[in-house]
Amino acid sequence: ASYSSASSSSSDDECPDLPLPRHALEFYINGTWVTPIEPANENSTLEVINPSSGLTISRISLGTASDAETAIRTAREALPSWSESSIAKRRLYVERLLTIYRRRRGEMAILISAEMGSPIDRAAGAQAGSGVHNIVTFLRALEYFEMERLIPGGKTDGSSNTFIRYEPVGVVALITPWNWPMSQVTLKVIPALLVGCTCVLKPSEMAPLSSLLFAEMIHEAGFPPGVFNLVNGDGDGVGAHLSSHDDVDMVSFTGSTRAGRLISQAAAASNLKKVSLELGGKGANIIFDDVGDDLEDVVRAGVWSCFDNTGQNCNAPTRMLVERGSYDEAVRIATETTFDAGALVGPSHLLGDHYGPVSSGVQFERVQGYIQSGIDQGARLVAGGTGRPEGSNPRGFFVKPTLFVDVTPDMSIAREEIFGPVLCMMPFDSEDEAVEIANGTPYGLTSYVHTKNRERRRRLARSLKSGMIEMNGIEADSGAPFAAMKASGNGREGGIWGLEEYTVIKVVSGVE
Ligand code: NAD
Repeated sequence: ASYSSASSSSSDDECPDLPLPRHALEFYINGTWVTPIEPANENSTLEVINPSSGLTISRISLGTASDAETAIRTAREALPSWSESSIAKRRLYVERLLTIYRRRRGEMAILISAEMGSPIDRAAGAQAGSGVHNIVTFLRALEYFEMERLIPGGKTDGSSNTFIRYEPVGVVALITPWNWPMSQVTLKVIPALLVGCTCVLKPSEMAPLSSLLFAEMIHEAGFPPGVFNLVNGDGDGVGAHLSSHDDVDMVSFTGSTRAGRLISQAAAASNLKKVSLELGGKGANIIFDDVGDDLEDVVRAGVWSCFDNTGQNCNAPTRMLVERGSYDEAVRIATETTFDAGALVGPSHLLGDHYGPVSSGVQFERVQGYIQSGIDQGARLVAGGTGRPEGSNPRGFFVKPTLFVDVTPDMSIAREEIFGPVLCMMPFDSEDEAVEIANGTPYGLTSYVHTKNRERRRRLARSLKSGMIEMNGIEADSGAPFAAMKASGNGREGGIWGLEEYTVIKVVSGVE
C-alpha cells in the first residue's frame, strides 16, 4: 500500500500485529526479568498510548526507589569483572548484540512506530536503523580509541615518562527521551559497555517498548548479569533517584533543559557525579542571497528538515533566517512547501513518506500552546495553525505543519524549543545581524548555513555559537559526535568522543 491522506474512518485505528515485549510489566535486573519490589497499586503502572489512535497498546510498571536501588547495587557488583575484562571480550558481546539487533530490526521498527508515532517506513529506516548505525560506528571508533596513551614530547628530548590511563567512569545511569528512542539508547549503552562501565537504563516512559525489546536482545547476546539493567519509571521517581544516588558515578541524559537542570542539581547535591547532558535546540538555518538559483531547493529542504520526525528533533532547523533580497521569494516557496507537508499527515501504520502525529497528548497541547502564542504575539501565520488537520483521527495527536513569517527574535516561538512541526521565518540585512539572531537564544546545538562564499563560511564557522554547524547541506561524517554549547548541554555523543565520555583519566608517571 502507499500513503493515502488521513481520514477519520476506523482504519485509523489499524495497527499491524504488535510484537509486544513479553515482560512489559517487569524490569531487567541482574540478567533476569523481575517484578517491581513494591506491591502493585493504581498508580504503579502506566499506559503506553499509540499517538495515532489514542488507544492503549501496552502497560508498563513505574519503578520506585527500591527498584532503582536494586539495579544500582547489581551494576556495582558487576563492575569489577566487567571493567577488568579485555576490550576484545566486550567487543565480542556487542558484535553478538549487533547480529541479534539486525535480525529483530523489523520488530523494533513496529514498536517504535506504535509507541511514538513515527511512520512505519521511517521507523524501519532511520529510527530502527540508527541502532545498527550507532553500534557499527562505535565498534569502528573503538579501533581508534586507546585506553592508555603516552604524553608525546613530555620532556625536552621528546621522550616521556608519563602516560594517561583512560578508565571506565563506573556505574552509569542512562536517562533517555522518546523522539529517537533507539538512537538515544544505543548512543549511551553501547559506548558505556564498550569502555567497561556497567549501567542502569531508564528509558522514556512515553516510549518504553523499544527499550524492553533492546533488553531482550542484550539477554539473548548473553552479556554477564548486572552489566546492563533496565528499570522503567518516570522522571520524578526512578529518574530523580538515579541522579541523586551516591553510588552512581555518572548520569548521561538526553531530553529537556528543564530536566537537565534538575539532574545537575541532584548530582551536585549528592556525590558530585559526572553529568553529561544533550538538551534542546533552536537551530538557525541562515540563507544568503548568493545561493542564487539554488534558493528553491535550499528553502524546500529547510522546511522538510524542520518538519522531519514531526518537528521532534533537537537539531531541527526551526528558524529560517533569509537575507532581505531573497526573503519574499523564500516566503512564497516555504508557504507552498508547508501546504504540501500539510497534505501528508497521517497515522503511523500507513506505508510511505508522510508525517505522523506528535508523540503524546501532553506534547500535542504544548505545541498548540506555542502556535497560539505565535498568533497572540503578532507573528504572521501563513500555513497551518491550531487544531487538528482536517480529517485526521480526533483521538490522535496530529498537528498541522505550521509556518509563521515576519517573526521577531523576541517572540516565544523564536526563542523556545517547540518540538512540533512549526517553522519561523525572519529576514536579515547583514551577516552580523544574522549571527546576532542565530546566537540570540539560550540554546547552542546546531546551525545551518547556505552561502556560496567560502570566506563567509569560514567566518561563520567561528562566529556561530553552536556545537554543530552544517554548511550547504553537507552532513557531518558518521564518526562525528553530537556536540552542544550553552543551554543545549555539554554532552559528546558518538564516535571516539562518545567513548571517551564514559571514561575518567589517570595521569601516571614514573612506572617505567
Ligand atoms: P523530559 O526531559 O521531561 O523527559 C526526558 C527523560 O527525562 C524521560 O526519561 C523522563 O522520565 C526523564 N526525566 C524527567 N524529569 C526528570 C528528573 N527530574 N530527573 C531525572 N529524569 C527525569 O522531556 P519531555 O517532557 O518528554 O519533553 C519535554 C520537552 O523536552 C520537549 O518539548 C522538548 O523540547 C524537549 N526534548 C528534547 C529532546 C532532545 O532530543 N534534546 C528529546 C525529548 C524532549
